[in-house]
Amino acid sequence: MAEARRRVGPKKERIRPVVERLAVEHADAAIALRFRSPLELLVSVMLSAQTTDVNVNRVTATLFEKYRRPEDYLAVPQAELERDIFATGFYRQKAKSLRGTMRLLLDEFDGAVPRRLEQLTRLPGVARKTANVVAAELGEPQGVVVDTHVRRLSQRLGFTKQEDPVKIERDLVRLVPRADWGRFPHLLIWHGRRVCDARRPRCEDCVLVDLCPSSRV
Ligand code: SF4
Repeated sequence: MAEARRRVGPKKERIRPVVERLAVEHADAAIALRFRSPLELLVSVMLSAQTTDVNVNRVTATLFEKYRRPEDYLAVPQAELERDIFATGFYRQKAKSLRGTMRLLLDEFDGAVPRRLEQLTRLPGVARKTANVVAAELGEPQGVVVDTHVRRLSQRLGFTKQEDPVKIERDLVRLVPRADWGRFPHLLIWHGRRVCDARRPRCEDCVLVDLCPSSRV
């Protein structure tokens, strides 16, 4: 679809009403992964690469009964861990990353999950997006998570013209009030799933219709 067609106000003036309306519309917007501790959160997010949250939850329901502490991931042969996470896909690489991460947690962080982005991104297999998700869920967002929905909606809403996730995040952290960094991606993700579909956005049912330059109605 063509982007940025309708005339709307400057993005700095639209960002607050966009966040407020989406917060009302998707009051239930939250991370779909199930976890009970920072360690389970970290493992879930690492496993969620290239697969669905539903799939990860199915695997972790039993995984987290067996692996409770960082040591547990190192106490079994790598092949056993690979089997236990097999259904999330890319299991060899994920098992390797998990073990490397647990090693570093034990060696440098007393077995606890760190909260700073620069610490999280030192963990093997933890890229900026994973680190951003974990930090935000731990209540200390230090950036804005950019996934496929956040990218598409930010572009449609005229909040960025960039394609590269790092550059999109740079635009969003300048625009989105810091207090909203944590919930903003969830709101866009849920709006993207429910209303602003990649192929068929339902502009006629959208609460942002007068604030969106890409609206088709
Ligand atoms: S569904 Fe809403 S946010 Fe998406 S393009 Fe249409 S008006 Fe814009």
